[in-house]
Amino acid sequence: MYKNKISIVGTGYVGLVSGVCLADFGNSIINVDIDEEKVAKLNQGEVPIYEQGLKELLERNLKDERISFTTDSQEAMEESEVIFIAVGTPPNDDGTADISSVLKVARQVGKYMDGYRVVVNKSTVPIGTGRKVAEVIEEELEKRGENYNFDVVSNPEFLREGRAVNDFTDPDRVVIGTESEEAQEIMTEIYRPLFLDDVPFVFTNLETAETIKYASNAFLASKISFINEMSRLCEQVNADVNEVAQAMGLDSRISHRFLRAGPGYGGSCFPKDTRAIVSMAEEAGIDLELIKTGIQVNREQKEYMADKIINELGSGEEGSQLAGMTIGVLGLSFKPETDDMRESPALTILPRLIKEGAAIQAFDPEAMKNAAECLDEYERDIVYCANEYDVMKNVDAVVLLTEWNQFRRLDFERLKRVVNQPVFFDLRNVYNEKEVAPRGIRYIGVGRAARP
Ligand code: NAD
Repeated sequence: MYKNKISIVGTGYVGLVSGVCLADFGNSIINVDIDEEKVAKLNQGEVPIYEQGLKELLERNLKDERISFTTDSQEAMEESEVIFIAVGTPPNDDGTADISSVLKVARQVGKYMDGYRVVVNKSTVPIGTGRKVAEVIEEELEKRGENYNFDVVSNPEFLREGRAVNDFTDPDRVVIGTESEEAQEIMTEIYRPLFLDDVPFVFTNLETAETIKYASNAFLASKISFINEMSRLCEQVNADVNEVAQAMGLDSRISHRFLRAGPGYGGSCFPKDTRAIVSMAEEAGIDLELIKTGIQVNREQKEYMADKIINELGSGEEGSQLAGMTIGVLGLSFKPETDDMRESPALTILPRLIKEGAAIQAFDPEAMKNAAECLDEYERDIVYCANEYDVMKNVDAVVLLTEWNQFRRLDFERLKRVVNQPVFFDLRNVYNEKEVAPRGIRYIGVGRAARP
């Protein structure tokens, strides 16, 4: 049984969700962040991100005093035998992951530890980082002339934003990479409710655990690029990509998940992790051709969607093809149920439409604040609306970009009444031609057959 408390460093999507859920498993958690404002808000029960069920869970565990938030890493590390690292690892310009924050935390562990420690890496880090973390801790201990024992564990996180609480509390598997039996036992203890619930636990070494995370994300990202490439073929040969994907997915070896054509993947993980595994492999002398192509296909897919809209609506010269037009955009976040705009297709598509002269009216249930920040250079060209129907007023086309639930049952009669031109681009294939076209609305999906 581990002693005292557990520190979790970082209160982003991963750190906060891990902290709150591990507290709910009965552990005593100190969540550390350098961001003072965030820490103060969290101690008041205010959640800085949008994540289903998180606020209720936070309030309950704050009330029961199983979780607290602090900027004082020294105190947290002195009081905890187990320290999770869940800080960001953003991409460097060359595609490699920036692990400076992870190593900074490791240095603090070496500086402040006063007995045995288990250092658990939850951030997505290049293969070999676990060993680097151990080296940095050793260095700090040497400086202090101390010789405390410690173990480093890789415990990659697979949660999806928007379903993070659910994914953390009901995961497909938990991966624990360590060569230490003591650390393995402690990890099992921390995850006890899951272990008792028969969630599969994969115990392996550090490097294998680190590789599992990148391999999984690269596979899922490539699967999305695969079906997006199929959608381009479908458009040319009168096939329907939704039906292709559905039939493919019925094969249990393939599965239907992550097999939906759309405007390309985004978010904080797939783009960054695919690039990182490619550069890691290059360093190791391996060319990951399949993954590289998947990245390229994804980049093209976002442009392809912008081309689709411009070609369909545009006339005139390049640069002013959409001059005088207004386009209504439903959804801005990279996927529903999140306010995350990182690498969202909207960030490629909207600027392309604006550069062709269009004005934009947009609505997203959660991501408008973040979108306004990411798209601030286009401030004059985008009007953020109060709801989906305000978006449609007097526009020359409506584009469904993110499939939030509230966009899944649109009132097309109302759409038709308020738009300037009844054209509907369904970039998530939520609807189909048969249900939209009879209402006198031109329907354009992704990879859909032109003839029924
Ligand atoms: P994030 O950017 O949302 O949050 C990181 C937090 O760490 C911030 O609050 C920041 O202030 C804090 N921080 C940075 N340096 C710090 C330091 N030295 N000490 C204390 N706090 C510090 O990041 P995230 O989305 O939670 O991702 C964290 C890691 O988990 C990344 O490696 C990411 O790749 C990985 N991951 C993310 C997801 C996801 O869906 N977001 C899923 C699985 C894995």
